[in-house]
Amino acid sequence: MKKKIIIIILLIIVLISGCLIFYYLNQPSVTLNKKTIPLNQETRLDEIILVKKGELVDNKKINTKKLGQTKITVQVLDFIKRKHTYEFKIDIIDTEKPIINYQKEIKIEAGTKTDLLKNVTASDNSKEEIKVTVDGKYDLNKAGEYKIYYIAKDASGNEAKEEAKLTVTAKSNSANIVTKNFTTSKGFKGVTKGGVTYIDGILVVNKTYSLPSNYGNGLTSTTLNAFNKMKTAASKEGLNIYISSGFRSYTRQNSIYNNYVKQDGKAKADTYSARPGHSEHQTGLAYDVNTISPAFDNTKEAKWLANNCYKYGFILRYPKGKDNETGYMYESWHFRYVGEDLATKLYNNGDWITLETYFGITSAY
Ligand SMILES: [Zn+2]
Repeated sequence: MKKKIIIIILLIIVLISGCLIFYYLNQPSVTLNKKTIPLNQETRLDEIILVKKGELVDNKKINTKKLGQTKITVQVLDFIKRKHTYEFKIDIIDTEKPIINYQKEIKIEAGTKTDLLKNVTASDNSKEEIKVTVDGKYDLNKAGEYKIYYIAKDASGNEAKEEAKLTVTAKSNSANIVTKNFTTSKGFKGVTKGGVTYIDGILVVNKTYSLPSNYGNGLTSTTLNAFNKMKTAASKEGLNIYISSGFRSYTRQNSIYNNYVKQDGKAKADTYSARPGHSEHQTGLAYDVNTISPAFDNTKEAKWLANNCYKYGFILRYPKGKDNETGYMYESWHFRYVGEDLATKLYNNGDWITLETYFGITSAY
């Protein structure tokens, strides 16, 4: 009898132990899969933890809005529906680099005080304030093309580096351009800007008014178009006109004038050849036609031009007997574009008025 009881007790102990061992062997196991989550990345618990032998109570969203370490609580039911609570520490990290707002191409004039960081900003997903710096080999005082880099780093060490093109242009002398306004004796408004004179909107070059040495680069398209129209009209009358000398640069005029001075002396040369910077040929609006000599004077072409050129916007620039006004002897071959309105006024029904008389200006060195 006693023996039986002992056996039963032993059996009960074995059974209870068995149950306890079974229970403990089947406890849930919860492990962390990922210790870090990127900032603001929507993440639920089951994406970062692994539950074995248990059931997650609430697969909740993890708060990823704040950088740094955060505690998460995980509740799991075991097979007898008993609730277990686990705690983990994870890090919310920033893996995105800042975004820099900048200009891809910057153009400045050499020597200009320039802040390359002006209007350059950076933003980051962390919402922190990001400082931008500029790097690269460049010289704001020397013309050239440079590569510069804008660099921004967030607190997590993510760095953004953007390349921009910096063009430093040669210093223009725009700051030194002198503007002088004046009124002529006939009441026309004139302006001399950067060494170029306009009177009533008309570019004027004579012995008084000159051009800078770098001015001009060929006959203007307006001049050429008007000339071609005129040439076509003349050819219908059986006349052949062509440009013998169009645009002349300062340098070219310099050598022409100096040759004439060598040949005839300065005083004589000044009556028919302009000093460099004073030639109307440098304007790109004037040209000589056919034979550049008094031999052209009595040709059919010369007569036709003197009476018709105004219709195309041209004037006979140096009319006969007006040497004292223009500063030059009569040139039947030299024409200048001024536009049809002014050309018609100056044509004056065949009795050419000079630009000098019309505007009330001089032509003298
Ligand atoms: Zn000429």
